[in-house]
Amino acid sequence: MLDHIRPSWPALALGGLLSLVTAAAGLTIPLVAERLIDGLTHDRPLDGVLFAMGVLVAVTALAGPVAQYVLRRAAETVVLTARRRLSSHLLRLRIGEFDRTEPGDLIARVTSDTALLRQVTTDALVGTATGALTLAVTTVLMCLLDPVLTGVTLGVLLLAGWVVRTVMVRVNEAGTAAQESVGLVGAALERALGALRTVKASGAEDRAEAAVHEAAESSWRAGVRAAKWLALAGNTAELAVQTAFFTVLAIGGSRVASGALDVGRLIAFLMYVFYLVPAVQQLVGGVSQYQLGAAAVNRIRETESLRAEPKGRGPEPEPVGSPVPASLEFRDVHFRYGPELPPVHRGVSFSVPSRGTTAFVGPSGAGKTTLFSLLERFYEASAGSILLDGRRLDSWDLRELRSLIGYVEQDAPVVSGSLRENLLLGRPGASGPELDRVLRTARLDELVERLPEGLDTLVGHRGTRLSGGQRQRVAIARALLRRPRLLLLDEATSQLDAVNEAALRDTVADVSRTTTVLIVAHRLSTVAMADRIVVLDGGVVRAVGTHAELLAGDPLYAELAATQFLEPTA
Ligand code: ADP
Ligand code: MG
Repeated sequence: MLDHIRPSWPALALGGLLSLVTAAAGLTIPLVAERLIDGLTHDRPLDGVLFAMGVLVAVTALAGPVAQYVLRRAAETVVLTARRRLSSHLLRLRIGEFDRTEPGDLIARVTSDTALLRQVTTDALVGTATGALTLAVTTVLMCLLDPVLTGVTLGVLLLAGWVVRTVMVRVNEAGTAAQESVGLVGAALERALGALRTVKASGAEDRAEAAVHEAAESSWRAGVRAAKWLALAGNTAELAVQTAFFTVLAIGGSRVASGALDVGRLIAFLMYVFYLVPAVQQLVGGVSQYQLGAAAVNRIRETESLRAEPKGRGPEPEPVGSPVPASLEFRDVHFRYGPELPPVHRGVSFSVPSRGTTAFVGPSGAGKTTLFSLLERFYEASAGSILLDGRRLDSWDLRELRSLIGYVEQDAPVVSGSLRENLLLGRPGASGPELDRVLRTARLDELVERLPEGLDTLVGHRGTRLSGGQRQRVAIARALLRRPRLLLLDEATSQLDAVNEAALRDTVADVSRTTTVLIVAHRLSTVAMADRIVVLDGGVVRAVGTHAELLAGDPLYAELAATQFLEPTA
C-alpha cells in the first residue's frame, strides 16, 4: 500500500478494531434474540438476556461514533501527508521535468488525486477489512446455527461475488479515465488563464473554453461509466442477499413445519442473512472505492517518481561582508536538452576572471540563456566541465551555489504578491536601509514613492500591473539585494527607456567592480561597455575580445553590430 498511509496505521488499526467491536456487538444480537424468544416461549428468567442487551446497546453507542471519528481523522491525515509530500516534491523537481509536464495537471494531482485517498483509506482499506471479517464471522455463526442453510446462502453469494469482480475491472478503467480528465481540465485551464491576454488578443476564448469543457465532459463521461458499473455491482449484491433470504425462508420454513428446526433458530438465521447485507455492501463499496482510488494512487506515484534536485545542505547562507567576485571557466562544454534534440552547445570554452563585465552575443537561439541555466544548474552539462572559483560546478552544494548568484531572467521575472515580497524573495532577511539602497540603484525609488501603497502594492499575476520596464527593474533590484558574487543579466534591460537604460548601465559598471557580471544584451551601448565580449554561434565560441577588437576581427560580430543591435552607441 501507499507510503502515505503508513504513518497513520496506528489510528487506522484502532479505528478498524473499534469498527470490528461495533460489528461484533451487532452480530450477537440474533443470538440474544434467540434466547429472548426461547425465554418468552418457555417462560424462563430473562435477567441475563436483558443485561446482555444493555451491554450491546452501550457498546454500539460508544464504540461506533469513536470508530467513525478515529477513522475519518486518520483519513484526513493521510490526505494531508500526501499533499505535503507531493507539494514538497513538486517544488524541488528538476527544471527539466517541467519541460515535459503541464503545471495544471500537476496541481490537480496535489488537490484532486490526494482527496481520493480519503475514500481509499476509510472505505477501501477499513471498509473492506471490516466487511470481510464480518462476513467471515457471520458465516461461522450461521454455520453453528445450521450448516445446510449456510451452504445455500454462500452458494448464492459466491455467484454474485464473481459477477461483481468482473464489473470492478470496468470501474477501475473508468476511474483512471476520470482522474486523467481532471488533470486535463487543470491543464487546459492553466494554459488559457496563464496567457489570458494572448488568448483574448487572438480571439481564442471560445477555443480555450471548448478545450476546458471537453476535458470536463470527458471526466463526466468516465464518471457516468463508473456509475453504471457500480450500480450493477451494488444491485447484484442486493439481489443475491434477497435470493438467499427467500431460499432460506422456503427451505427453513418447510423444516420448521416438519419439526426439524426451531422457530427461534430460523429467525436468528434469517437475521444473519440480513446482517450480510451491510457486510456485503461494505465489501463491494470498499473494493469499488479502491478501484476508483487506485487510479489516483497511480498518478500520485507517477508524480513522485519525477526527478527532484539533490537536497541542499541547511538553509541558504546569508551573504557576509563584501562579496568576493566569482571567477568562471567553461571547458569544452557540450549540452543538449534531450537525447532526441539537437545539441545546443558543442564544445563551448571561455573563461571569465573575477570582477568585470562579460557580454554574450550571438543570434537568437545560439544558447545564451542556456549558458545561464547551466550556471544555475537547472540542467547538467552532458560533457566538459564548468568551473566556478576553480571548483567543478557539480561538486558545489546546490543551495550554496545558487546563493552566490543573482539571476535576472529573460522573461516575466516577477511573481504575484507585493513589490516587497518580490524584492525579499531572494533574501528575506535584508534590512530596510539595504532595501532602500537597492531601490535607488535599480531606479525604482521614484515609482515606489508615487504608489499610494508603496512597497506593499500588489503587482498582479506575474507582475501584470507593472510595465515591462518596471518588471525588469524589480527583477534587477531583487538580484542585487542578494549581494551576489556572480550577477547574470539576461536581456535584463531590453524594455527600459533610454534614460533608465543608461542609468542602469552605470549601475552595472559600478556593480562589476565588486561582482562578476555576465550579461546578454542586444543593445550595442550595453555590449560595447563590457570588458570582454564572447560571440556564440553554432554551439561554439567564435571569438572573444573587446568591442573594438571584434568589430575589426570578427565578421559575424561586425554584422550583428550593424544589423541586430538596436541603436547606435549613445
Ligand atoms: P538564446 O538565449 O541564445 O536565444 P536559448 O539558450 O534560449 O537561446 O536556446 C538555445 C536553443 O535551445 C534553442 O534552439 C531553443 O529552441 C532550445 N531550447 C531552449 N530551452 C529549451 C528547453 N527547455 N527544452 C528544449 N529546447 C530548448
Ligand atoms: Mg535567450
